[in-house]
Amino acid sequence: MNRTEQLIAQVERVSAHNYAPLPVVISRARGVWAWDTDGKRYLDCLSAYSSLSLGHCHPRVVDALVEQARRLCLTSRAFHNDRMGPFLDLLCELCDMEMALPMNTGAEAVETAIKLVRKWGYQAKGVPRDRAEIIVCRDNFHGRTTTIVGFSSEAAYRDDFGPYGAGFKLVDFGDVAQLEAAITENTVAFLVEPIQAEAGIKVPPPGYLSAARRACTAHDVLLVLDEIQTGLGRTGRFLAHQHEPDAAPDVLIVGKALGGGVYPVSAVLAPSAILGLMRPGDHGSTFGGNPLAAAVGKTALEVVRDEALTARAADLGAYLLERLQRLHCTAIQEIRGRGLLVGIEFAPQAASAREYCSRLLERGVLTKDTHERVIRLAPPLIIAQEEIDWLVEQLEAVLSD
Ligand SMILES: *Cc1c(COP(=O)(O)O)cnc(C)c1O
Repeated sequence: MNRTEQLIAQVERVSAHNYAPLPVVISRARGVWAWDTDGKRYLDCLSAYSSLSLGHCHPRVVDALVEQARRLCLTSRAFHNDRMGPFLDLLCELCDMEMALPMNTGAEAVETAIKLVRKWGYQAKGVPRDRAEIIVCRDNFHGRTTTIVGFSSEAAYRDDFGPYGAGFKLVDFGDVAQLEAAITENTVAFLVEPIQAEAGIKVPPPGYLSAARRACTAHDVLLVLDEIQTGLGRTGRFLAHQHEPDAAPDVLIVGKALGGGVYPVSAVLAPSAILGLMRPGDHGSTFGGNPLAAAVGKTALEVVRDEALTARAADLGAYLLERLQRLHCTAIQEIRGRGLLVGIEFAPQAASAREYCSRLLERGVLTKDTHERVIRLAPPLIIAQEEIDWLVEQLEAVLSD
């Protein structure tokens, strides 16, 4: 066994098999490129599920991390720290929200939002205690906690992890009439992703989010947008809901890229009339808002702003889509996406998406299948046009094999 095989065998032995990674062991990375243990180079087109929008090891983020690590890493929220305020202030400004609650992972932030909208339902809307309903979409992905998988429609995420919490209703993504029909006097929120990324980069029909916003407003229901994967420039707008007029949420959830590709940082944002309902003792996280996370999160936001990564995602995303659409290949059924969040859906008679990912891996492209027939292309937003050209060449080669 060579070193790579040894490392994979070791992980197979000692790690739970809750993932099925492609057979590559990455040991170093910089920008859009990653290297395996044999020194072979790969273009990272998964970006840790859009967490690496700034690329690997962005120098400004790494500097912020290291400098902060030398000064102060953790206080807990039992005390103030000098980093959290400036971070949340910039986050609120960029997201056009009044307040934020910092957490670590995406799933925790979604759980926080669920608690928040229920509390709002009881204290502000007047829903009877324990009767609050939250409407969610089929094929949603909001994380892996027991509450969240309880309202998943995906058997693999959900089965054998019950019993599940009550209070969730499923409607079809993209269907406002179903949403309106599902609303009752006890509905407190509609929780939705602007683009269903894990479900296969599903972009809703135009006008969907604006219409959902109107329906929520009309029935005194909070619109909660999970922008964990779509936010911070990825789709060519700072937030993906900005592709539509008047679709701003009441509660916004961000994560992934907020950690600059180096550290888990997530947050829930809302107006003070909603987030102000959280009182001491209601909710917490030992690590949420820690000074290291805050220094990294603030720097990540500054990099998105200073390097104009949102505009880059819009321009290069349009370029990538156009190049892909010119591929003319019978194996491809549909190409869809926004900005640098693109899905390629293969036709039923084509090879599996996993098979295409393996072939791309051989050619030095890292990507991942999502469901059987879709591969996702979500490179770091710092990718250069020539690197996109190179990616398309590799795809062409793999498709003509
Ligand atoms: C990744 C993701 C989550 C969960 O985030 P974790 O950090 O993995 O817990 C939630 N919602 C969406 C839309 C995601 O893409």
